[in-house]
Amino acid sequence: MKLNTSAMRYLSNDDFRVLTATEMGSKNHEIVPTVLIAQIAGLRGGAGVGNCISELAKANLIARVKNAKYDGYRLTYGGYDYLAIKAFSNRRSVYSVGNQIGVGKESDIFVVANEKGRKCVLKIHRLGRISFRSVKNNRDYLRNRQSASWMYLSRLAAQKEFSFMKALYENEFAVPEPIDYSRHCIVMSLIPGFPMRQLSSHEDPSTLYSSLMSFIVRLANHGLIHCDFNEFNIMILDEPKSEDEQFVVIDFPQCVSIDHVDAERYFRRDVDCIRRFFEKKLGYVSEDYPEFKRDVKRVASLDIDVQASGFSKKMVKEFEKAISESREKVEDEFDHESFGEENYDDEEQHDDDEVVEEQEDELRSEDDLAGGSGDAEESGLPVVMYADK
Ligand code: ADP
Ligand code: MG
Repeated sequence: MKLNTSAMRYLSNDDFRVLTATEMGSKNHEIVPTVLIAQIAGLRGGAGVGNCISELAKANLIARVKNAKYDGYRLTYGGYDYLAIKAFSNRRSVYSVGNQIGVGKESDIFVVANEKGRKCVLKIHRLGRISFRSVKNNRDYLRNRQSASWMYLSRLAAQKEFSFMKALYENEFAVPEPIDYSRHCIVMSLIPGFPMRQLSSHEDPSTLYSSLMSFIVRLANHGLIHCDFNEFNIMILDEPKSEDEQFVVIDFPQCVSIDHVDAERYFRRDVDCIRRFFEKKLGYVSEDYPEFKRDVKRVASLDIDVQASGFSKKMVKEFEKAISESREKVEDEFDHESFGEENYDDEEQHDDDEVVEEQEDELRSEDDLAGGSGDAEESGLPVVMYADK
């Protein structure tokens, strides 16, 4: 997925206002009716809104969707990316966007820099990229969910990852420094290293092995299991800080509490991943490995602290259910997916007047709206592309 940073520089304040209005409208509408966009944006003079809408659609930030009852628009990934990066830019977390360094099933990773030239990592969560329709069609899950599923899931993933990373970083775990988050995106420190998967030999595998196992146990003692603790999510530092500090662990959205019903199984799976990698790639086998019941002794409750910081138990449950459901269906949906114009006939109706009032207030107080002087130059992002050599 391309990041269209060039469109970012040239949107006028009115365009931006209309884009934000579309985002707000999509909290209650999968397809936001054109009239609602105009109402939320609160722009006087109908032609203005029409122009903004066609500019935004041309830049692929919103997409027109036909529905049995009315025409409307939905925010695209591009539009959602725009809003997040704009927020980072306003908060001075990101100044420029560089090379893409990773693309996963559920995320895109870019190197970015702030004004001072400090390089960081931008992780854009793309949950539902592949299984958009299958998640959407899951009405049991979505019945009470009003926002578009991919936006909702991707935002939850980012929020969850940021909260966990922050709690871990503050407790001196070897994880990237979390810097900022907005919507489905997080900014974190760039780890100077490479995924452990690229290791084909190691001069002292036993020390690395033990410190990885210690990480798993210490994490569990703090209330958490990573659940994806494998050679792709362990970064080996180019310059190890010490024998025990050779790596940094990344990728936390699927982390669970040690009180989870399947905690013991997840714990064992993480341990087995490391054992298998060491045996297959590094020819190292050890009979010494941690066991959940025997070795985990709770000393802290980061699982509970994180809930208190805004990621509630209910959100955790919803999220876990949604990702496991979407992942189950990923394989058979892979070939059929598209993000072009779509037809829906199951749009739920909402009381638009109430929504408009609420959202007009929100739009006024939205700190992402810089100044609002009507000057196109001012709403343009200073984001520039650069290529790493
Ligand atoms: P996914 O959920 O798609 O697996 P990850 O967070 O694991 O996303 O990131 C994917 C890849 O991007 C990693 O394997 C790693 O190579 C790179 N990466 C991610 N975060 C960082 C970081 N903070 N510093 C350096 N590289 C990173
Ligand atoms: Mg990963």
